[in-house]
Amino acid sequence: MQFISAEYLFTGKAAPIKNGVICIDNNGFVLEVLNPAVDEINWEKVKKYEGIICPGFVNTHCHLELSYLKGKISQDTKLHGFIQEIISLREQFSEQERLEAIQLAEQEMITNGIVAVGDISNGNTTFNLKQQNNLYYHTFIEVFGSDPAIAKSAFNHAELLYNSYFDKTKASITPHATYSVSNKLTELIKSHCIKNNSLVSIHNQETESENQFFKEGKGKLFDFLNIAEKTKGAFKPTQQNALPSFLAKYNGLNKVLLVHNTFTEKEDIAWANQFSNQIYWAFCSNANQYIEGRQPNYHLFLNEKCTIGTDSLASNWSLSILDELKTISNNSPSIELEKLIKWATINGAEFLGIDKQYGSIEKGKKPGINLIEQLNGDSIKLTQESTVSVLF
Ligand SMILES: [Zn+2]
Repeated sequence: MQFISAEYLFTGKAAPIKNGVICIDNNGFVLEVLNPAVDEINWEKVKKYEGIICPGFVNTHCHLELSYLKGKISQDTKLHGFIQEIISLREQFSEQERLEAIQLAEQEMITNGIVAVGDISNGNTTFNLKQQNNLYYHTFIEVFGSDPAIAKSAFNHAELLYNSYFDKTKASITPHATYSVSNKLTELIKSHCIKNNSLVSIHNQETESENQFFKEGKGKLFDFLNIAEKTKGAFKPTQQNALPSFLAKYNGLNKVLLVHNTFTEKEDIAWANQFSNQIYWAFCSNANQYIEGRQPNYHLFLNEKCTIGTDSLASNWSLSILDELKTISNNSPSIELEKLIKWATINGAEFLGIDKQYGSIEKGKKPGINLIEQLNGDSIKLTQESTVSVLF
């Protein structure tokens, strides 16, 4: 048993506790959280750190299997260019290279204080590593196909992967993005998700032409994916943005995570909240910077259930939730650190359904304990120099 403390303790749920103390056992279970303003503390027993303590981070969006593409894809290509580069590069790496990159990437996440990951998979290269339980994983087996003719075969491939997964309570079949799934494929995915009460994760409004795709049935993405030809002219513009156009087809789902939201508007958020009370949002700020050079309007989301993802090393310089928070904080300095920590911890844990153990520093949980140092002292803000280390 140990007592640890820092200048502020961010529990993930409540307001930061000045000089808060955690009593923790040797296995990382929290025995007690003490507030010096009300609790008596024997300071001789307490190990005190500079900086702040917070729960282990939950990374709600990653593609571990793409780790071999670190540093290989050009920046600022926009989404269609990014997809094109992945397609042209993906055959050039051996199985061994991929497996090594995945292992290194997992290690990087652990070092950076990440304890749980919502990970997208198109194949099974990450499954063996995930089974070792070095981190908590929920695997989203992703399906795409805008050509209705391939709906059945695309879904069958995903179902085979799903059935081969070692723990189906921690896996879902999930649609890739608003623009890349035909109506026929949507039906197959939806009924699987409803039957299994699955968590769903969808790439949403990542690029500007995604809204135009649905509103007008044209634009860069629409042309790049050859939608007119694939649907034999049957695609009907909805006069609405991508989010309502797409999600309306998915009524009756369990929790849904919308990922990126770079071009999401106030009306889209209002629509989503009308549609379901189980909507979560994931921001992958550095990937947005990498691919689109744009950031979401975070201020629209201050009352929403926001979470943080790193996306993959194909579109990011690191797998670090702290690096994502720095980018958000730099872009929108008025968002308080307390809120950012909540986005990075408890909200993601709630989405993944693991908040009994993770996401907040509370008696009985084993959430992982991070120390963040090098903050801007007076205002408790992150700086570009802030670092994270794992205490438990
Ligand atoms: Zn992604």
